Amino acid sequence: MNRCVITTCAVAIFLGLCFTLPAAGQVSLVRDGEARAVVVTADEPTETAEYAAAELVRHVEQATGVQLDTVVESEAPEAPHTRVYIGVTETGPHHGVDADNLPREAYILRSVGNDLLIAGREDDGDPLDPGNPNAGTLFGVYEFLEEALGVRWLWPGELGTYVPQTDTIEISAINRMQAPALHFRELAWGRTRALLRGRELEEEDARLGFSQDVALEYAQALESFLRRHRMGGMDAKPPTGHIFAGWWERYGEEHPEWFMLRRDGTRGHPDPEFTHVDMCITNEELQDYIIEEQWDGEGWLRLGSVDRPGRCTCDDCRAWDGPQPDEIPWFAEMVYETDRRAEVAFPGATSDRYARFWKLMLEKARERNPNARVSGSFLFENEFPAPVTDIQLNKDIYAEFVQWQDPHLRWFPMPEEAHEWIKQQWLGWKRTGIRLGYRPNYLHDGYVFPHFDIWQSGEFFQFAYEHGMEGARFDSLTGQWAVQGPRLYMHLRLMTDPEMAIADIRDEYFSAFGPAAETVERYFDYWEDYSVDNVLEFIELFQSPFVGWRYRAYPLKAHLAFPPEVFEPAKAMLDEALEEAQTDSNGEYAERVRFLQTGLEHALLTVELAAIYDESGSMPEDRLEEGKQALAKLVEFRKERQHLFFADLQWVTNYWERPRWDVGELVMKLDEE
Ligand SMILES: [Zn+2]
Repeated sequence: MNRCVITTCAVAIFLGLCFTLPAAGQVSLVRDGEARAVVVTADEPTETAEYAAAELVRHVEQATGVQLDTVVESEAPEAPHTRVYIGVTETGPHHGVDADNLPREAYILRSVGNDLLIAGREDDGDPLDPGNPNAGTLFGVYEFLEEALGVRWLWPGELGTYVPQTDTIEISAINRMQAPALHFRELAWGRTRALLRGRELEEEDARLGFSQDVALEYAQALESFLRRHRMGGMDAKPPTGHIFAGWWERYGEEHPEWFMLRRDGTRGHPDPEFTHVDMCITNEELQDYIIEEQWDGEGWLRLGSVDRPGRCTCDDCRAWDGPQPDEIPWFAEMVYETDRRAEVAFPGATSDRYARFWKLMLEKARERNPNARVSGSFLFENEFPAPVTDIQLNKDIYAEFVQWQDPHLRWFPMPEEAHEWIKQQWLGWKRTGIRLGYRPNYLHDGYVFPHFDIWQSGEFFQFAYEHGMEGARFDSLTGQWAVQGPRLYMHLRLMTDPEMAIADIRDEYFSAFGPAAETVERYFDYWEDYSVDNVLEFIELFQSPFVGWRYRAYPLKAHLAFPPEVFEPAKAMLDEALEEAQTDSNGEYAERVRFLQTGLEHALLTVELAAIYDESGSMPEDRLEEGKQALAKLVEFRKERQHLFFADLQWVTNYWERPRWDVGELVMKLDEE
């Protein structure tokens, strides 16, 4: 018999309180394969409570084969029958469960005698909406499923849902209130999410990757998967953005003096429609225009730079800068020196300049609205290094840390010195007193390959959390579940519980492979080691010809980064893992190993196609036949296995492949045949 038991306050991972224990008791949902409890909702439950109850029943049934009945409160059986109350009920307040007064996203897990209550604040909102803070009831159910049943959501879909089998689910007395430690949590998935609102795949993408119906199924599975990981809180995220984008086109002719002074002595940009022209932020007339005309006077004043490095070179702006470093670290050269816009704009750190700007603008804004707050948007490009002039800001200024500029600093894994350096930049910004969010881009990396990092990025995330990170939004969730699974799982788990040990998160993931757990761990270690051992080689390889666009340039060089011979030891490990998994009568362990094999085979087929293209992304005429065959093989492979969700194939085709390879032309040639 495999008993799953949780104890009160076993994991003190959330803010919130642990209460004094009531007299020892036990709540029994299922014992020896027999139902011992009913699930109870309000007579008129909200959609959130109904959904949460269904999630509980579904997972309990998966674990035990026993389906618990769900009844409304007025039809609930009398004590001593065990009742699991889900959501806001009339019974709740009698036991001190006052859901309406809980903080946003919070929930209470409380046993009373042999009953259990799980409730958070509720309203009519969509329980799956990441901007709905009133889904605490649902979060409470997920917390219970993880702790009491050991449920692990590895990737979207049934196979990625690991529910350990048991015939008994019982917990000892429990009494706690919890809320997510991070105020907002998201791996951006807007492109996939748009499918839920009716977006159609582009024709070429549908031919190369996901079919429309499978893409929609994937989006639906992903939506529930992300909520199971308690992604959300987006209503609490301060606004950000590249606010000055497009200003040159709008105001350049009338007010050229508002725009950056170039090294050639002109203002702005030769192209009157150029979008990414940064501002001359010391210009007082511009400052006043922003406050009086641009800002609506409510809440946040957004001041994010354009999405392009290089800043104003005028004397007034330069006077606001701190000194540039005497010695530039070898891994940060592009932060200070070799910026691609150095010929026209100031290439160094302008963090102090912008910090001063934000502070000044907050003071000006307060004259209009005493409750004004400033969002500097991104600590990015020229503002990525921490200020060096000891400027003091305050909690009414918010910005998000985006490690960027030099390729040594953008991706994980990165050289250890670079890792230490970005920690110092985070700390430096923290010392100014501003509020900090985290908004990195490194999850874009790796294309369809087992190119990832767990240890270093996990360490940085936890460092940032220990030093004031309020929330995190990653750009973007590319969904390469079968080749980068542990990395994605780790990020999702850290978002829920930033203090969880990385080793424990890894163990959770590998445990879903049953008897093959150790071999699967060795398999992923092999690939992580490969990424770490080749960190400098990969930086060099992907640095040209598309500086800054490593994730988009990736397909062109995939075969050089991952030559076929490096797959051999990995394939052998998965063969071994499959044999081990097959020793268990539970077939899902072997299915999960096959899932990993699918990802690896897909990577290998991609390498075979990539190797036929030349460096510019064109197919040489004399290799056209070979190319068509390789593409046909790759597409056939995807179509046969797309239901597994081994990869978000929409990302693969739309984001990486089509823009870089002339696959469109090849597809047309395939169609002709
Ligand atoms: Zn200026």
